[in-house]
Amino acid sequence: MARVMNFNPGPATLPLAALERAQSEFLDIAGSGMSVMEHSHRGKVYEAVHNEAIALVEELLAVPDTHAVLLLQGGASQQFATVPMNFLGADQSADYVVTGSWSKKAVSEAKIVGKVNIACDVGKDGKFTRIPKQEELKLDPNAAYVHITTNNTIAGSQWMSYPDTGSVPLIADMSSDIMWRPLDVSKFGLIYAGAQKNIGPSGLTLVIVDKALVAKGRTDIPNIFRYSTHVDNNSLYNTVPTFPVYMLRNVMAAVKEAGGLAAMEKQNLAKAELLYSAIDGSDGFYRCPVEAGSRSVMNVVFNLPTPEQEADFVAKATAKGLVGLKGHRSVGGIRASIYNAAPLAWVEALVSFMKEYK
Ligand SMILES: *Cc1c(COP(=O)(O)O)cnc(C)c1O
Repeated sequence: MARVMNFNPGPATLPLAALERAQSEFLDIAGSGMSVMEHSHRGKVYEAVHNEAIALVEELLAVPDTHAVLLLQGGASQQFATVPMNFLGADQSADYVVTGSWSKKAVSEAKIVGKVNIACDVGKDGKFTRIPKQEELKLDPNAAYVHITTNNTIAGSQWMSYPDTGSVPLIADMSSDIMWRPLDVSKFGLIYAGAQKNIGPSGLTLVIVDKALVAKGRTDIPNIFRYSTHVDNNSLYNTVPTFPVYMLRNVMAAVKEAGGLAAMEKQNLAKAELLYSAIDGSDGFYRCPVEAGSRSVMNVVFNLPTPEQEADFVAKATAKGLVGLKGHRSVGGIRASIYNAAPLAWVEALVSFMKEYK
């Protein structure tokens, strides 16, 4: 059996070490005679896995004591709803910066809960090809929070530095770029990420939240939707997705072993640089629609001269073991998702295929 070079956008490739560890522990974890999936979420064996997963997230991201790490269900899409449910009061408004389809979805959900101010929409004139500058943001100093999407998985753009929101809490959907490099968590009121892009399998959502913000959250919503419920119960209010948490633990351990987030950053920048250079140096055969300075290090999107050539490119690449390169159905083109777990060698193979195909 040969494993392919997997450029899927999500669920996405996972570190081989994390998968092999799961394989070796699958039938019997910690000498307990059963799989982690068969353990009670309140038992000692699972509890050790749960707390280790949280501790590794805290260590890798240097999460300050002011913030809590939560392991939840419902995906990033549920966070689109729970963020405003908790923090958008009836007489308030929240600022949203729209940089792609996922930001738009976050806005639609927030609008059901309360008042939304679009601080900036870079896709107003058609396509999402850039990240706005600070001066373009029409921020409301009295906003409940400011919401951004740090990496636009479909459009292929990414915030390289985050906006200054003054005393207004900054809330970020980091689903597709959390842990791509070290991060100053203290700058954020809340960070959320569906695990299935850069840190684990689907079924698990990582949330990192300022406990002072949680304390001010609304209490007129059901317990299950309140961040305070999950902070108070160490994410064990109800049954957690134990196997995805176990896999997150394995991925975090593999990332740590590989040198942590500084090593991830170095490798991710090298991969992106190699791929964008191949696109820009192709005499216009390959074209990246995203402006320089806004280009994503995680999801590299590009076009060929025609949609027919794009389909042919994907088919021929797949035949060579380079899979998952088809762009999102809403935008077409090619997308190479090169998350932490995609090694430089895969990008080298892709670049050499691109030269040969051209
Ligand atoms: C994939 C993705 C989502 C949706 O995640 P689900 O876990 O499927 O709800 C939201 N935001 C971004 C940036 C994504 O990449």
